[in-house]
Amino acid sequence: TVTRLPELQEARMKLPIVSEEQRLMEGIHNNDVVVICGSTGSGKTTQIPQFLYEAGYGSPNSPTPGMIAVTQPRRVAAVSMSNRVAAELGDHSSAVAYQIRFEGTVSKETSIKFLTDGVLLRELSQDFLLSKYSAIIIDEAHERNVNTDVLIGMLSRVAKIRKEDSEKDTTIKPLKLIIMSATLKIEDLTMNPKLFPTPPPVLKVEGREHPVTVHFSRTTHSNYVEEAFKKITRGHRKLPPGGFLVFLTGQDEIRHLSKMLKTAFGGMTSAEAPRVKISATEVPMEAEDIEFGDVDDYVPDNLDLVLDDEENEQDEEFHIEEDQEVAPLKMQVLPLYSQMQTKDQLRVFEPAPKGTRQVILATNVAETSLTIPGTRFVFDCGRSKERKYDKQSGVQSFEIGFISKASANQRSGRAGRTGPGHCYRLYSSAVYERDFQSFADPEILRMPIEGIVLQLKSMGIGNVHNFPFPTPPERQSLTKAENLLTYLSALSPSREITQIGITMSQFPLAPRFAKILRVGHVHNCLPYTIAMVAGLSSPEIFLTLAQAIPQLPVNEEFKIRRKEDIVAEEEQVKVKTRFNLAHKTFCGLDDMSDAIKLLQVVGEFAHEPTEAWCEKRFVRFKVLKETQLLRKQLTELVRNSIPSLANTKFQDKLPIPTELQVGALKQIVASGFIDQVAIRADLSPTPPEQYRKPRRATEVPYVPLIPLHAIQGPEHDSLVYIHPESPLAHLSAKECPDYVVYLSLQRATPSGLDPEKKPKIRMHALTDVT
Ligand code: ADP
Ligand code: MG
Repeated sequence: TVTRLPELQEARMKLPIVSEEQRLMEGIHNNDVVVICGSTGSGKTTQIPQFLYEAGYGSPNSPTPGMIAVTQPRRVAAVSMSNRVAAELGDHSSAVAYQIRFEGTVSKETSIKFLTDGVLLRELSQDFLLSKYSAIIIDEAHERNVNTDVLIGMLSRVAKIRKEDSEKDTTIKPLKLIIMSATLKIEDLTMNPKLFPTPPPVLKVEGREHPVTVHFSRTTHSNYVEEAFKKITRGHRKLPPGGFLVFLTGQDEIRHLSKMLKTAFGGMTSAEAPRVKISATEVPMEAEDIEFGDVDDYVPDNLDLVLDDEENEQDEEFHIEEDQEVAPLKMQVLPLYSQMQTKDQLRVFEPAPKGTRQVILATNVAETSLTIPGTRFVFDCGRSKERKYDKQSGVQSFEIGFISKASANQRSGRAGRTGPGHCYRLYSSAVYERDFQSFADPEILRMPIEGIVLQLKSMGIGNVHNFPFPTPPERQSLTKAENLLTYLSALSPSREITQIGITMSQFPLAPRFAKILRVGHVHNCLPYTIAMVAGLSSPEIFLTLAQAIPQLPVNEEFKIRRKEDIVAEEEQVKVKTRFNLAHKTFCGLDDMSDAIKLLQVVGEFAHEPTEAWCEKRFVRFKVLKETQLLRKQLTELVRNSIPSLANTKFQDKLPIPTELQVGALKQIVASGFIDQVAIRADLSPTPPEQYRKPRRATEVPYVPLIPLHAIQGPEHDSLVYIHPESPLAHLSAKECPDYVVYLSLQRATPSGLDPEKKPKIRMHALTDVT
């Protein structure tokens, strides 16, 4: 039996789910698959694993000795939730561990293992029956991440097989599958006969959220960062103690707002902060344009909707009757986004110093799972940055758009986790009603799926068209993925997985990169190929110029130009020069190839793997550290899976590659992308009709060899251009190579300044071809 700390035990007892333990455990005992539904805060993530643990799951001498796995879509949630459950388990805390990519605490004692869904998918490919587990909890299933979806499809089969095996052989134990969701809108999972021939029981649990009052703005501003700044500034002055959690779309916005807030509030008391003066009367009045519509069904019961008082929005907006405590004077600003180091992310869980208001600026990593103690006020910009993907042409884009109503309500819910709270929406109720979809599309419909298809085939699922996807991708996308894999020799012409395909599936890489590794050993290039692939598959190694440049105190309206500002402007120019120089230096091995440039970055970093080195060169330490780990992992995988390369050794610090090797590496990388080659338009068999002489490399038109209009219809663009961040962008128009191999195509977000103009499709180039 578990002895818990009295205060944690008391907090637990207040969750209604705890009094439902018996009913839930009966449901789990009597069914191999159950769905547990309860609004956020009901105690699913923290309590269900403990119920299982106390019922004997995961203890070596019980009838259910295997571990309990709890999946999370995000790393920070896996780590922080395992910490919380460990704390709640008192004298049994060492039974809880986590495993995320490259980082984990699992030991012999582990009974409850929190892990990301990606990690569990990999384990599944090694041991299809997941024999070391007795129960798998899939958390946040309503988010419909691609990994979660694929896991549920696989696990529905695994549970069935384990059941059948256990009936024949008593040493094999059945596997319990517990799917948890914060919404009931999961019919794709529950009412899907392909997935579960008999629908699994849906056990509802009562929510215990504290009431959250939702405040809409009267108007929806396009500059929501500015708007957030104003609202936080006023709120900080007027609101009683309690943490702020602010939702923005990305790290640029977070850094920008953080700078503004630090300039305005620093660590100083507001009385001492002279530079920003805003009084309620100075801020222009906003008029509601459209009438307040009916509240949607999806708003959970505990959300209490309030429309800011027409007459006196500013005076009333932060008026909280039940609370007379005065506002704290100081402010502590903390960022939270996925590209941060885990230890920095976990800072948001530490209590703020006394008399200080914690202001957390987060992306949607904070939207679900996490409980950040002390958060009472949520500020929601109503947008997020989403990956968009045109299935036909393969053009990718990242677009900032309105979130779904379901997400907006998840965000509001963050204010009611440890006490009653308020959510300030930086958009009007009219826009919410009109422009917010009820639910976002599942991720599987928004991304390339060749990696998933390869994984499925390697696990023996020959006919992926019949795989029980919760929401199946279109037939055509599946076929396209199979075609690509066939071309990469991962599948035979009859669409069966080949030996090459099996090897490729073992690498934690997109299939094209896995393919590159197989040919990467010519001219002793293997260690370089591995480093290059590690670089290519790591997101955002480079800071953008906007991220690198220190922001000026931005708020023009409230700014008095002073000497410091001029100094700051000069500093900006200097940083820009250093930035350009750093990039130029990284093109030392080759000035025509993004892939070789990444190889150089990864290679040089290995010689001096420090934060200082990265800071000077405007690259991300966390990401590069992971490329190191990935290099090691890939080397091991190559050694173990390709017999002819069995004596490959990992060499951390590589010598500079020879010119011959650089040439070979360019061919090696191109070999994985032969279908993604573009020819300079003036050399193409069908040059464009009006051909204006371009001045800059980024204006030189290229035509993809598999033309975009062939798949998209003639009204679509047929031309693509070099991305300004590519080394190729620094050439003169005349020097532009005849052929460019590209990693992906991307259409930029239309600029707010000129929304009519359709942005060009840009190639994320890999290399020139000679
Ligand atoms: P669910 O998964 O259903 O959304 P959780 O199990 O994560 O709910 O949390 C249930 C409740 O436990 C929260 O509403 C909160 O009151 C409390 N809680 C969870 N994590 C923490 C934490 N790190 N610190 C303080 N309280 C927490
Ligand atoms: Mg949860």
